[in-house]
Parts: sequence; C-alpha cells; structure tokens
Amino acid sequence: MKHLLAVRQGLPAEALELHESPVPQPGPGEVLVRVEAVGVNYADVLSVMNEYLTPAHYPFVPGMEFAGYVTELGAGVSGVKLGQLVACLAGQGGLAGYATVPVQALVPVPQTYTPVQAAAFGVSYLTAFHGLRTLGRGQAGEWVLVQAAAGALGRASIQLAGALDMRVVAMASTEEKLAVARELGADVTLLQDDPERVQKVREAAGGLGVPLILEVVGGQRLAESLRMAAPRGRIILIGNASREEVRVNPVDLMKRNLTLTGLWLTTLLTDPQAQAQTAAEFGRLLDKGRIAPQPGPSYALLDTAQAFSDLLDRRTSGKVIIEP
Ligand code: NDP
Repeated sequence: MKHLLAVRQGLPAEALELHESPVPQPGPGEVLVRVEAVGVNYADVLSVMNEYLTPAHYPFVPGMEFAGYVTELGAGVSGVKLGQLVACLAGQGGLAGYATVPVQALVPVPQTYTPVQAAAFGVSYLTAFHGLRTLGRGQAGEWVLVQAAAGALGRASIQLAGALDMRVVAMASTEEKLAVARELGADVTLLQDDPERVQKVREAAGGLGVPLILEVVGGQRLAESLRMAAPRGRIILIGNASREEVRVNPVDLMKRNLTLTGLWLTTLLTDPQAQAQTAAEFGRLLDKGRIAPQPGPSYALLDTAQAFSDLLDRRTSGKVIIEP
C-alpha cells in the first residue's frame, strides 16, 4: 500500500515523501481500516513542521483524522463489524491505504454519512461542541463570535450554535467565506479586516459585546477579542492560526471579569466530565436541525503537500480532504 511519511521537520513540500509498504495486521484491541478519506486539520500541518503542542518524532505517517471501512478485527475486539464505516481520531497514520486503529480511537458516525463526511466530522464538531458548551457554557439566545467562520471548525461551530439556538457573529477573510457563513445560519457577518470590527461586533450583540468568543486566530487578534467581549465574557482559546505570540494584560481581564480558557480536544477526549457532557448532549444536538459536515476541497494522496500549504495559506474553505 502507499503511504506518506513526514521524514524531517520543514514545510510540507520539503518534509513529505510517498512510500510503499505491506498492509499492516491489526494487533489485539485494534481494527484494520481501509482508509477512504482523511480530514486535514491545522494540527496535521503544524505537526509536520514540528510546531504542534506535542513534539514530532520523525519519520511518521501524518493524518490524525480519517474515515473508512473496517476490513479486519484484531483479537478481543467486539462491538465493531466488518464493513462498518468508522471515523478515527488516531493521532496519526491516516495518510495511507490502510491503518490499524485501537478501538478507543473510533468515533461513532451516522451510517448515512459518506466516508468524506465522516472524515470531516470528529475533530471539528467535537471541538465546536466543547467550545460552545463544555467550556463555553453557551446558552440559548446568547451571542457567540465565530472566527475563520468558513473553515472546518467555523462551519461546525455555526451549525452547532444554531442547534443551541444561539446567535452568531461570524468573521472571515473574504466575502465568499462570509457568504458560506450566512448560508449556514450566521446572523451577522463581518470581514476580519473591517476597520470598525470591534465596534461592529459590540453593536451586533446589543452594545456591550459578545458573551462568548471562539478564538482561533490568536496573536494580536486575541487582544482585540478581549475588547469585543461583554463584561463577564468567556473567551475560549482554541487555535493560534496567526502563529504570533501575544501578551495579555491581566488587568484587561480583571477590569471586566473576563474568563480566558484554553481548549485542547486531545485531552478532552479522555476527560470524564467532558465525556459525560458529550454523552448527554452531543447526539441530541446532532439530531436537531441540519447538522451535517460540509467538506471542502478534496486532493489525491500525491497532492497532500499542496493541500497542507493551501490550508496554511488560508486558500481553503471547509474541511480539506485527502482521498488516498
Ligand atoms: P480551518 O479550516 O479553519 O482553516 C484555518 C483558517 O484560519 C483559515 O482558512 C483562515 O480563515 C483562518 N486564519 C485566520 N488568520 C489566519 C492566519 N494568520 N494564518 C492562517 N490562517 C488564518 O482550520 P481548522 O478547522 O482545522 O482549524 C481552525 C483553528 O482551530 C486552527 O487554529 C486549529 O489549530 C484550531 N483547532 C484547535 C483544536 C483544539 O483542540 N484546540 C481542534 C481543532 C482545530 P480566514 O481566511 O477566514 O481568516
């Protein structure tokens, strides 16, 4: 089978190589998945460049999120059927024809999804859910600011906020991306570089600011988000797409009783409280309304470096998919 290897730290075009290897055997507690679609996350790109939250150990097969059909069961596996469509959050290994996956890394997906939809589901929707509810404590009728609104996480956040009856201010870099956000149900849309954006966000939410912000740009934008937040506002720090460092003045948080909370899905996946909230609410939200992944562009395995660069250079809209 073909697989991609990140062989050294660097930009995707320098770091990724195509290799051939035998199809692996599932070990005890694992299943073998024929990979049909890989959902590319910002974290995959950062991992190849060794700029992610955990250090990279080269060589490795990137691809933390993927979907496909189970073709073999390892010893002791129950509750999974041969031929079943599964989504996998496995940390790495998806950019290959086949992958062995521990059963704990399988995410249940509606069997009506296509493999591409299944690959665009887990990371974005679970992150959006924990940002809006588990950590953000968003309530019906409240405003939420969604940045990079036409991105994979942005689209999921708008859909889930709609299912929670929250109201959405969406920001993105182009008019085309804002049109996507409106189609998904955003109430107010603003260009990320609108010179009056701080004032406009505040006005949209009744003058005082937004009570909840899903921060994915970071850097200088984080300082600006503090000014967009309502008194007692919650800013959930999910990403730092700008890759800039920023200093936050504690006084700015204190003066208006703001809360700045970090979110990392990897740790929430095994956090008992987050798991309980997911079990209690997430499925119900998915059943409500039109919650379905809207994947973005698809690329062949050979074009993965291009896909990674397009995501990094913000040329994409929606979850980037690789079909090995
Ligand atoms: P997206 O599909 O949203 O793509 C990234 C988007 O970020 C771009 O399209 C761009 O949208 C926006 N962006 C804004 N400023 C910049 C910048 N300076 N450089 C590059 N991009 C910029 O990707 P994902 O859905 O995979 O991820 C979105 C963010 O959420 C990322 O920062 C990611 O790391 C984070 N994330 C964090 C998770 C966690 O567990 N903490 C889990 C999942 C995602 P636009 O052009 O509209 O500005």
